[in-house]
Amino acid sequence: MIQKEEINQTLRKYDKKKVTIATIGSHSALQILKGAKDEGFKTIVISRKDQAIVYDQFNVGDEKIVIDDYKDILDEKIQEKLIDKNVILIPHGSFVEYVGAKNIEDKIKIPMFGNRLVLKWESNRDKQRDWLIKAGIKMPKKFSSPEEIDRLVMVKFPGAKGGKGYFLAKNKKEFNAKMKKHERKGEEYSIQEYVIGTLMYPHYFHSPLESRTEMLSMDIRYESNIDGLTRIPSAIVSGYKVDPSYVVTGNIPIVARESLLPQVLEMGMNVVETSKKLFPLGLVGPFCIESVCTKDLEITVFEISARIVAGTNLYINGSPYSQILYKEPMSTGRRIAREIKSALKRGRIEDIVY
Ligand code: AMP
Repeated sequence: MIQKEEINQTLRKYDKKKVTIATIGSHSALQILKGAKDEGFKTIVISRKDQAIVYDQFNVGDEKIVIDDYKDILDEKIQEKLIDKNVILIPHGSFVEYVGAKNIEDKIKIPMFGNRLVLKWESNRDKQRDWLIKAGIKMPKKFSSPEEIDRLVMVKFPGAKGGKGYFLAKNKKEFNAKMKKHERKGEEYSIQEYVIGTLMYPHYFHSPLESRTEMLSMDIRYESNIDGLTRIPSAIVSGYKVDPSYVVTGNIPIVARESLLPQVLEMGMNVVETSKKLFPLGLVGPFCIESVCTKDLEITVFEISARIVAGTNLYINGSPYSQILYKEPMSTGRRIAREIKSALKRGRIEDIVY
C-alpha cells in the first residue's frame, strides 16, 4: 500500500500553478476533461490506441499519451512523466476495473483525486455490505449458500463488469444448473435477494472543503437484454427460453419523486459519515448508491460505487438538481475540478488527494 505521506511529499513538490488533470481515456473521460478545461486546468488523456479516435474527435486533452494497455499506467517511466507534469489523476470505473484495485493501492504513485483507502471497502462485497448496513441502509437479503435460497435471487460475480454474467435463480437446483450453463463452476459468487421496483442511481459528491454532501444528478441504467425483454409481451416470451442478463448498455435520466428526496439525501450523508469512522479521511468526491425503490417507496441498496459513475455522462451540461445547486452547468467531472481548484487556492490539496 502506498502511504498517504508518500503522496503528500509528491504533492509538496508540485508547482501548484501548473497542476494538470489527467485521466485514462474511457468511461467518463470526456466529461472529466471537459470539466477540468472549464475550470481552467491543463489536461492530459492517457488512452489506448483503439480509443484515441474519441479524444481526437472531441479534442479534450491538451496532451495525449497513447498506451497499448491500461495497465501500462503502472509503468514507472509513465508515472514519473506524469508526476513531472504535476498531474492529479482522476480515477473512474474503467480505471479501477482494468488496472485493478490492488495495483492502484500498491503501485500508483501519482496523486489521485479522492481516497484510495476506499478501494478496499468498495471492491469487497462483504466489506461494502458492512459499511452500508452500518450507515443504516436497507440491503437485499444475502444468502450464504445455495441451500438457503427460498425466493428469487440474483447471483453476482466479483468486479464491476457492468452486470455481465449475473443470473437469476429461484432455488438450489436452478442455481446449480445455471452455474454449469454459464460455466461459472468454482468461481466466487454472491447470492442476493432479487428486489423488484424502480431502479435509481443517485450521483453524489462529498466535498471535505465545504463539509457537504451534494446530490448532483440521478440516472437509471439501461441494461441488455432485461430492458429489451420488457418490450415483449409475456404471452409471447413465455414460449421462449430467454435468460435475462443485466449488461449495462446505456443510461437514462431520471428525477425522483420529490417526497423521496429526504431518503436519497440522508443515504448519501450517512454513507459519508460512516466512512469516516471506517477509514481515515473517509469518502471523498463522487460516489453513487445503486438502489431500487419498491412499491412501498422504500429504497433498498445493492451496491455502492465510490467514484464517478458513467451515468453522470448524461449531465455534462448539468442536471435538474445541479442547476439548483449551481447557477452554471455543473457536471460531476467539473465538480471534481472545482474541488481541486478550490483546495489549491486554500492550501488544502492534501485533504482531497491520495
Ligand atoms: P450491480 O453490478 O450490482 O450494479 O448490478 C447490475 C444490475 O443488476 C443492476 O443495475 C440491476 O439492474 C440488477 N440488480 C443488481 N442487484 C439486484 C437486486 N438485488 N435486485 C434486483 N436487481 C438487481
